[in-house]
Amino acid sequence: MNIFEKTYCRIFQFCFKVAIPLLPYYNPEILDKVEDIAQILKAKKLSSVLLVTDKSIRNLGLVQNLEDNLAQNEINISIFDEVVPNPTIENVEKAKELYLKNNCQALIAFGGGSVMDCAKAVGARIAKPKQTIPNMAGILRIFKKIPLLFAIPTTAGTGSETTVATVITDSNTKQKYMISDFPLIPKYAVLDASITKSLPPAITATTGMDVLVHAIESFIGNSTTKKTRAQALEATKLVYENLFEAYENGQNLQARKNMLKAAYLAGCAFTVSYVGYCHAVSHTLSGFYNTPHGLANAIIIPYVLEKYGKKIHKKLKQLAISANLCDEKTPEKEAAEQFIQSIKDLNSKMNIGYKIPEIKKDDIEKMAKMAAKEANPIYPVPILMDKNELKEFYYDLI
Ligand SMILES: [Zn+2]
Repeated sequence: MNIFEKTYCRIFQFCFKVAIPLLPYYNPEILDKVEDIAQILKAKKLSSVLLVTDKSIRNLGLVQNLEDNLAQNEINISIFDEVVPNPTIENVEKAKELYLKNNCQALIAFGGGSVMDCAKAVGARIAKPKQTIPNMAGILRIFKKIPLLFAIPTTAGTGSETTVATVITDSNTKQKYMISDFPLIPKYAVLDASITKSLPPAITATTGMDVLVHAIESFIGNSTTKKTRAQALEATKLVYENLFEAYENGQNLQARKNMLKAAYLAGCAFTVSYVGYCHAVSHTLSGFYNTPHGLANAIIIPYVLEKYGKKIHKKLKQLAISANLCDEKTPEKEAAEQFIQSIKDLNSKMNIGYKIPEIKKDDIEKMAKMAAKEANPIYPVPILMDKNELKEFYYDLI
């Protein structure tokens, strides 16, 4: 990247970093089980909720316990279970109509990233009934309280239960609208391990590696705070202590619970401190080849860390210490190499490869351009790279 672009990116990032303490970030309050929701609703004198989920989660019977519990507590529950992957404007509008028709007073999102995104957008539409989703796209366009929102993640991965953003797609034009504002952060995150215990090992592995990548990218960037560094280190520790156990022994509820906590902490960290080039490249692969998000991240991250080289050795050593791979006495370079090797080892133990053979050489130019556009100037990465430098990652991955 040339010096002018670099200067522009760094000034942009510096302004955002300076603004962090002034912005109303908050971390959702953690609840341990879905049964806690009814008590909170009763205490707040709310008697009717809209539950947003998808068909597969409902068909697995995961929602039943919550439905029964709300009914026992005389709370009316309306269910919208039509959320699709990459939720659409139609999804949001239909759920909003149901919310209004049944006089709902709060929202519960029960699912993965798509469900959370849909529920957040429903909240935004309730708060701003006159504005459509395209009208609200962008940063800080809501500026108004949305209904009380509970987020119940069904995978330990995305960290969406902690984030400010939602992405909604126009199904006709395929255009994606990103809405980002502080009122969209859920008030409560329900980290109930019993919900994630039936996740298949491959999903546990890839979503768990996504958590690790959130922790790493938010930690090695330039816009960290004392709090986000602590959250990222704690998340890393929890992933190293629990991910492989949750993968091998899905019924281990303590390991599942610790992975949910790791996903939550890493989500809190990257909401404030951002992700980096691994995510930017990974998003393009998901767009072009439907590569699952966590899988792409797990495969790409060692290449990205190796490329940054010496610049991040000190930070990787801190992560390596949290992962219990080395101690203070270990030289930085050695600790950094151990950390990168440990990611490769963890991937291989969980049957995650190290290449993405779907990549077509003809697509690389376009994907690298999109990745550069996503990352620069926003992501405060340790070393800035332009489109041409990012292209190398795609060639490495073939
Ligand atoms: Zn991610």
